Amino acid sequence: MQSLSPATGVAFLASGSRGNATLVYHHGRGVLVDCGLSAREVRRRIAEAGLANIEIEAVLVTHEHGDHVAGVRVLTRALGVPVYATRGTASSLREQLADVPEVVTVHAGEALSTGAFRVLPFRTSHDVVEPVGYAIEDLAGHRVGIATDTGVLTSEAVDAITGCDLLGLEANHDLDMLESGPYPRFLKERIRSDRGHLSNACAARALEKLGSDGLKTIVAMHISEQNNLPRLAKASVGVGARSLGLTADVLVARQVEAMVCEIL
Ligand SMILES: [Zn+2]
Ligand SMILES: [Zn+2]
Repeated sequence: MQSLSPATGVAFLASGSRGNATLVYHHGRGVLVDCGLSAREVRRRIAEAGLANIEIEAVLVTHEHGDHVAGVRVLTRALGVPVYATRGTASSLREQLADVPEVVTVHAGEALSTGAFRVLPFRTSHDVVEPVGYAIEDLAGHRVGIATDTGVLTSEAVDAITGCDLLGLEANHDLDMLESGPYPRFLKERIRSDRGHLSNACAARALEKLGSDGLKTIVAMHISEQNNLPRLAKASVGVGARSLGLTADVLVARQVEAMVCEIL
């Protein structure tokens, strides 16, 4: 007999510029947001997290950068599940997606169902064709928001993720570390532009725009290994959370190993 999976939660399988994958699950079913590690490594981390018996019903892609899509083709072919992506993202990945089981086109602001999950894509601001984040609701009404790879949090994003139980929010870099760090000028400018990545300070300010209803856990995501430290990201996001009057837990997703957050 298979052991029972934990009921509801989010497994941050990997987060950062060397690969991203997040599994949102509810009573044995799940959706994967991005698959930016090899399919084999994603499956290894899912198993290590004790979630091997979750039936993944779709892979939702945020945008075409390699750290979000490296394993999408192999994994969706192995599982026989569809890829969800905007038209712009799918066309940027035309070759990679040519022989996947199915590509479902998503539109920012239009909710759709994967089966066990209601998915609302929302526009993000990043230097790619048509990027989105996702708000994901399970059959019991738990809501999870994933907002990374965005230079600013759009008002559409704020609306979509307000009221989530758990929010995964990018806190990519510390502005001082980025400025004094080793990256060339053009890359520094790209990262901190409106179409780059959210800094710790921007993540904290973004939180201030959110209604605090129901938010229990905030997970800082896509932490730069060169331009940030987990403790700095956690401290900034914690300041933003407290400004909302939240007692929400603040955690930091990691690049090298999975972190599981159960939703009660
Ligand atoms: Zn990324
Ligand atoms: Zn990106």
